[in-house]
Amino acid sequence: MTETITAVPYDEAIARYEPLIGLETHVELGTITKMFCGCPAAFGAEPNAAVCPVCLGLPGSLPVTNRSAIEYTIRIGLALNCSIASWCRFARKNYFYPDMPKDYQISQYDEPLCTDGWLDIVVDGIDFRVGIERVHMEEDTGKSLHVGGATGRIHGADYSLVDYNRSGIPLVEVVTKPVPGTGTLAPVVARAYVTELREVLRALGVSDVRMEEGSLRCDVNTSLAPRGASQWGTRTETKNVNSLRSVERAVRSEIERQAAVLDAGGRVIQETRHFHEESGLTTSGRSKEEAQDYRYFPEPDLVPVAPAAEWVEQLRATLPELPSARRARLQAEWGLSDLDMTALGNAGALDLVADTVTAGATPADARKWWLGELSRHANESGTELAALAVTPAQVARIAAIVASGALNDTLARQVLEGVLAGQGSPDEIVAARGLAVVSDDATLLAAIDAAIAAHQDVAAKIRNGKAAAAGALVGAVMKATRGQADAARVRELILERLGQAYPLRDP
Ligand SMILES: [Zn+2]
Repeated sequence: MTETITAVPYDEAIARYEPLIGLETHVELGTITKMFCGCPAAFGAEPNAAVCPVCLGLPGSLPVTNRSAIEYTIRIGLALNCSIASWCRFARKNYFYPDMPKDYQISQYDEPLCTDGWLDIVVDGIDFRVGIERVHMEEDTGKSLHVGGATGRIHGADYSLVDYNRSGIPLVEVVTKPVPGTGTLAPVVARAYVTELREVLRALGVSDVRMEEGSLRCDVNTSLAPRGASQWGTRTETKNVNSLRSVERAVRSEIERQAAVLDAGGRVIQETRHFHEESGLTTSGRSKEEAQDYRYFPEPDLVPVAPAAEWVEQLRATLPELPSARRARLQAEWGLSDLDMTALGNAGALDLVADTVTAGATPADARKWWLGELSRHANESGTELAALAVTPAQVARIAAIVASGALNDTLARQVLEGVLAGQGSPDEIVAARGLAVVSDDATLLAAIDAAIAAHQDVAAKIRNGKAAAAGALVGAVMKATRGQADAARVRELILERLGQAYPLRDP
């Protein structure tokens, strides 16, 4: 189908229409083995090396539910404030896919394990409570690889290969309720929700949540209704959006596209759509199946899941501190404003600063290094802060050496350069480069006298009371000592030497 519609500029679209968003997030669980067999669930094995009759769907094989996967799912449900079912079943979802050998997927349908929770997020200082409709378990499919074409898609490919390693990996699907009232913030709210969900999952330790490897993938539902309308519009579902930035862009581009359709008097079709990274646009996929198309029925090969109440309470009691609680605690401990905390979060520096403080630095020093010098490095080299070749412990060590007076900031930056260049630990670099603040006055005075002799005119100005001129002499001494002098002490000594023992204010 060709689409010739021209998108409406975002602000115009939002002025006329109210968006409604919803998100379905698939999470690959980090269990050792697969959902219904003992095959390893790790990423990156040789194609079709991690398979057995169960995950290949061979006739006569029987699935057995992975207890860890149930436990992980309950933990996710509890962290998202859900009710945990005391009894529920798996269901067969029937459809054909070449990389799904059974021609049905074992999933959950009308009896999900976790229901009716929420996740709170803050966007631009506004609180949003995103309702969680359900958290259910299912198995992942295999993966098709289309060889010979230019795009990696099946069209134009010479042949296709199927890798079943992923077949049967435990998946959890977290489905939100529709999120109303987001208005112009809809794309940002969608992104903030996925970001927070990822943080929760990471804190729970149930998944490696790597979007680029597909262990976290989102379907984004978007619909528009004219402002003031009493009914929501028809929604589209943009599939497999694989980065946080793409979540935001996909919602935005769907709002712009749907507004154009509605403006032209058209009708939004209920369908799945594909998001394209390069253009930032979505294109039509297939018309959306209704539940009845899948011919769901209870999975006859598996016993029901009936977690004991005591087990659920045990899991609740051992939940880790969740990200929002942790942020609130750190903010109070560090005495930061909301704005400071947001800046740390946006820079991806929260954990790094926390680890640096744990390693002994003051919160102020930790923030200064990560948001200053190290952020500059990350920007220049186009990497994430966390990917820089320096550990929080090393940053804490550099801060400690500065606090001891053995290094000034200029020298400390040189040490940091050395660490980032892989030349060793801070102490090794200090030793190897002979970096240390020269604080012994005799050495400094020798350099000062040499500077005065070389700049008689400047010295005369200072003698006449113009303390501001001392900067030139301080600079000369710093140069002579290769930046290793304590600049404040040098200035004091120069003023003393030239009869201005009491530092004068600049005129
Ligand atoms: Zn298997």
